[in-house]
Amino acid sequence: MSNSNKQNQKKYYNNSDLKVISSLEKFYRESKNTVLNNAAQGWFFTASMDRHYIGNNKSAGKRKLPPTELKINHAKKIKDYVPVRSAAQTIEFLNEETDIVLKYNKLKDLIINSDPNLTMDSFVDKTEADITVAQDICFSEKALNIVIIGGGITGLYLASSLKNTFGKKANILVLDNRSDSEHFRKIFDREWVTHIHAELVQKYTPPNIWQLLDCFGLGDLAGLPINMMEALFMLSCKELGVHFYFSPNLDFSKLKNSSISFFFDATGGRLEGCEYGSSTPPEFTLNLPNKPMEYSFAGVKQLFYKPGTMPGFVNTILRASGPFHIPYLGQTRILTHLFKITGIPQSLFSEVLDFILPINSKNTFYIWNGVLIEELNHGLVLINISIEEYDILSSVIDNPVNLISFIDNNPDKLNSLNKHIYSLIGRLIELDEGNNIKINPPFRYAPYINLNGELGTFQGKQIFPVGDSYFCGHPKVGNGLWTHLGFINHIVQEIQTSLKS
Ligand SMILES: Cc1cc2nc3c(=O)[nH]c(=O)nc-3n(C[C@H](O)[C@H](O)[C@H](O)COP(=O)(O)OP(=O)(O)OC[C@H]3O[C@@H](n4cnc5c(N)ncnc54)[C@H](O)[C@@H]3O)c2cc1C
Repeated sequence: MSNSNKQNQKKYYNNSDLKVISSLEKFYRESKNTVLNNAAQGWFFTASMDRHYIGNNKSAGKRKLPPTELKINHAKKIKDYVPVRSAAQTIEFLNEETDIVLKYNKLKDLIINSDPNLTMDSFVDKTEADITVAQDICFSEKALNIVIIGGGITGLYLASSLKNTFGKKANILVLDNRSDSEHFRKIFDREWVTHIHAELVQKYTPPNIWQLLDCFGLGDLAGLPINMMEALFMLSCKELGVHFYFSPNLDFSKLKNSSISFFFDATGGRLEGCEYGSSTPPEFTLNLPNKPMEYSFAGVKQLFYKPGTMPGFVNTILRASGPFHIPYLGQTRILTHLFKITGIPQSLFSEVLDFILPINSKNTFYIWNGVLIEELNHGLVLINISIEEYDILSSVIDNPVNLISFIDNNPDKLNSLNKHIYSLIGRLIELDEGNNIKINPPFRYAPYINLNGELGTFQGKQIFPVGDSYFCGHPKVGNGLWTHLGFINHIVQEIQTSLKS
């Protein structure tokens, strides 16, 4: 915080809030280069491996919106959803199961069946409770009162870690708008495999949750899909006493409780209304030196910027846009379009890799075997596409859908895709005896980074970006989630140290 800002805001903060805020500001300033270098790994990968697919044109078509879901009567919902088990009992129920596959399926069932511990907020039995009442109930004097906006993987991990570390000394209120009706959130449905070392999330996670994170993956990898990790951290938060408020229409102007210490933005970069001062030039160059990229396990090879070739670096220009800096190669924004084919059984993995290798001279396909134990494991293929292909797929896929159903429902669409993609899909359909393989909605890798994270304000208080609100990683490089979770560990440690000083 600048000195004048600090003077202006002093009256709103107590001393321990100020100490914590100052140490977080310092931490954000000092770690900026490290985070920038982590984010830049994805930019280098794109320039070096996926350069054939970089395109900065806006896509022509509009995403088809998912059908409106029926709003369920609130009273009925509560009646139907009274938890059978508390969060603590649910964690115990999972831990008691000794068969790993059954344990995995039990966790999956909790998600599929919208277990109330995962979907209800903390004010569900107080129908009239709005966000103002939520603050009154959650916050107290002489404690850190932290609002985390966004209850995805990083918001939940941050909330669980803070509450586990500080107990009654920190009140945490998590807000999320991925909701159809007041007090309920939608189920966690992103079955995206991860590559996270379980150790990374050990230090600040209660042992009963950590045990679950540690048991499904190969070696010390957690390996769980994002939605299952979200479910575990949600249970952890509920057991520890984190407060949640879910609504499709969060009224942030009501976040006026004078005891709020500060905010975290964990919305994946979607929060509007934050203001960031500027400590980084609006435009600057970052030369990323050439380096070897060994990704043969994924069926791709380095095409550009190999060591010993000229130019000896990727000339990246960062340009400010709103709260973010956006990386460009010259005038071209680093941006690619992709889609995923998921659920490829481990038994088919080498066959799929062999099929891909001869048709992959432009690195169209990137194959990744998951890191769950053999009985649970499944792999995926990430496929680079053109903007036109992105528009075609966007118009017909809203949610992951079985490959065969996709073809049956859209017989003409396949012909519009590049012939190698067409042939891979055909081969996968032949191989997919169990009907496990799914095609997922297309997405864009359009990287950005917030380089002024220590200077954010929201509703008159300090706000710090975490997770994809700070920067977005590249799913092929895997530089997003692990950096975000490691960064959150440091945040907790910084707060711990500043409270002791
Ligand atoms: C298409 C795609 C595929 C990916 N695949 C993988 C993968 O396979 N493996 C992997 O490890 N990573 C993958 N990633 C990256 C990974 O998803 C992110 O690193 C991770 O989700 C970031 O977590 P987050 O909590 O910061 O943001 P999110 O997970 O986006 O969570 C944000 C939360 O904030 C809520 N929210 C948003 N706006 C508001 C608002 N205004 N008010 C309140 N709440 C709000 C949302 O409902 C959501 O719950 C992928 C990313 C994308 C986009």
